[in-house]
Amino acid sequence: MNIAIDGPVASGKGTVTKALAERLGIPALDTGAAYRGVTLYLLEHNFDLHDEKCILMNLKKIDLRLYLADNHEVRVFTQGQDVTGRIRDNRVSLAVPVVAAYAGVRDYVNQQIGLVAAQGDFILEGRDIGTVVLPNAEYKFFLTASLEVRAKRRQADLAAKGEKISLLAVMQQVKERDEQDLNRAVAPLRQAEDAIYIDNSALTLEQTVDMMAKYIKL
Ligand code: C5P
Repeated sequence: MNIAIDGPVASGKGTVTKALAERLGIPALDTGAAYRGVTLYLLEHNFDLHDEKCILMNLKKIDLRLYLADNHEVRVFTQGQDVTGRIRDNRVSLAVPVVAAYAGVRDYVNQQIGLVAAQGDFILEGRDIGTVVLPNAEYKFFLTASLEVRAKRRQADLAAKGEKISLLAVMQQVKERDEQDLNRAVAPLRQAEDAIYIDNSALTLEQTVDMMAKYIKL
């Protein structure tokens, strides 16, 4: 059984997916981590992120690998190094939609995701899971929240890492990332027609997970 969870930046997908995985006893994979791993590598190796051709020529060198830890965290390796600790830096968050828009990057990342997901039942979380990666998933959810709520969550995440940014600036960043994910030509962020829509602006984590779990028959 596969479960697809899609949604925009700071929609709570990551936290909800881990909690649902815990409750159902099904492993979860955060596919955004894979795009972040590729982007981090490109930033750290001084690639011009707008030079698609050069990026595609060098993709295989990155040797992206994904491993699942017991706590439903994905560990991301590039060139044999565990880079998980750096993939959530804000500079990566801001750059990743540019890289994730390239069809060649998406093919490469999806191959790596496929290697992990082929191992059994999975909850996959991302932007194009219900529409492209797992169009036949038994259960699909589209999770979102208002821009303000999402920006506040993002601001709190950044503050926890010592990055102080005004709410207005975070709102602008979230909006820009959403626009890039929504408007790209390949696999844009979309709600699958058969996905269950959940706006969790006024819901707690537990309420959101309860609501989702009610739909799922194991
Ligand atoms: O979910 P997260 O914010 O970590 O994802 C980072 C970025 O990776 C997204 O903004 C999006 O550009 C890209 N992504 C994607 N398709 C996915 C998962 C993530 O394009 N399935």
